[in-house]
This record gives sequence, structure tokens and C-alpha cells, in this order.
Amino acid sequence: MPHALPTAAAVLTTTAAAVLATTAAAAGALAYAALYPDSQLFGPVLVAPAKPDEIALTYDDGPNDAATERLLEVLARHDVHATFFFIGNFVRQRPALVRQVAAAGHLIGNHTTTHPWLAWQSAARIREELSACNKALEDALGNPVHFFRAPHGARRPYVLRTARELGLTPVQWNVTAFDWNPITPEKIAAHVVRGITRNQQRHRASNVLLHDGGHLGIGQPRMGTVEATDCLLQQYKPSGIKFVTVATWA
Ligand SMILES: [Zn+2]
Repeated sequence: MPHALPTAAAVLTTTAAAVLATTAAAAGALAYAALYPDSQLFGPVLVAPAKPDEIALTYDDGPNDAATERLLEVLARHDVHATFFFIGNFVRQRPALVRQVAAAGHLIGNHTTTHPWLAWQSAARIREELSACNKALEDALGNPVHFFRAPHGARRPYVLRTARELGLTPVQWNVTAFDWNPITPEKIAAHVVRGITRNQQRHRASNVLLHDGGHLGIGQPRMGTVEATDCLLQQYKPSGIKFVTVATWA
């Protein structure tokens, strides 16, 4: 008995499935470009060069009172400079702490004014979020800042273009500490060590995403991150690893 020809309904179903699959693939690619930490698909972002013996510790969502202050002590004890991406609204509330971070030789960058998901905001809102944070930092520091990290790493071409127009180099990361979760300092450090080891195997430097603050408000508990930082510096400093700010890679 000959095979039956496919019915119109079957053909339609197959076509619909193909369209759905294509749409899903396109959505997947867009999500990758918008959200994957070191994707370059939406425009160049600074991540890490081919220097496996270098690490940049970066701290987002501050300034955050005690956590930021304790972190400054730890970094000073190990004679290491780090990078801080501050939220403009918190900068307005804690300008003296921001100046203290800069005076200790750390690099400070823009992390927007209110920490929204920029990829889904209007052009006007994106520009306002970036320029108002620039202004808050410049008012506190007396100098313009030159680096920017998008909240959640979420971006689209307009975000990166606007950042560059405002004199900011967009920075992502290639090691995630997951320290916004309530996990122990040991767990935070373990995530970081795993990421650094993977990058070293790929002959890349490590750009480590940590948090001295939380975008929900000043006062978020981040002592676990401070403790993890101390452990990481004890582990890596004697091995000849060089700790740098992201400005040395720009
Ligand atoms: Zn953030």
C-alpha cells in the first residue's frame, strides 16, 4: 500500500513547528547577546585580556557603609586595588565614602542611578540613568569616571552606544561569585576559584563579579563577600598573581 501523502494539517503543523523553532533560536541568540556576561554580539565590551596571571576584583551595587569600609581595610591589608561600580542614588547619600574609596587608589565606575534592567528601558531612560550617575560621581569625586557596568549585565546596542557617547567604556565580567545569594564565604570563594581556574586554562585574565552592596538599598548584608575576598587574596597573592583594576586592560 503506497504511503499516504501528508495532509494539509500535517504540513501546517510541521511548518508551524519550524517557525517556532526558528523564533526560539532567534530569541535565544538575542537573550545571549543581551545577557551573557562576556558576549560581544551587541558591541564591544571590556572583559579580560589574554593575561592568565592577572585578576581584577570588581564590586557592584555600593557604596554600602560597613561592608564597603571593611572591604577597604581588607584590600589595603593585601595592598591590592579593585574596581567599584557604584549606584548613583547611593553615591548621593554617601559621597564621603565614595571619596574614601577613590583616595585609597581604587577605580570607580558607573552602575546607573537606580539599577534598572537597561535592556528593556526607553532610550531616554537609559541616557538619564547613565548621565545622572556620572553626575553624582563627578560631584562626589571632582573628576569624571570612565567605566560603566550595566546592572545584571543586561544591555542592547543603544546602551553600549550611549555609554560610549558619555565617555564610558562598558565592562562585563567572566567570573561570577553568586554572592547576592545567601551563601557562605567559602561557597563564594569556591565559585571564584573555579572561574579563575577555567580562565587560566583558556589563557585569559579573570574579571570577577562581586558585590559590596545590594541594589535594594544601603545596608544589605555583604560581609560574606568581604570575608571571601580576604580568603581569595590569601590564596592568590603569594602565587605571583597580579591584582589590577579594569583600567589597566582598557
Ligand atoms: Zn548591580
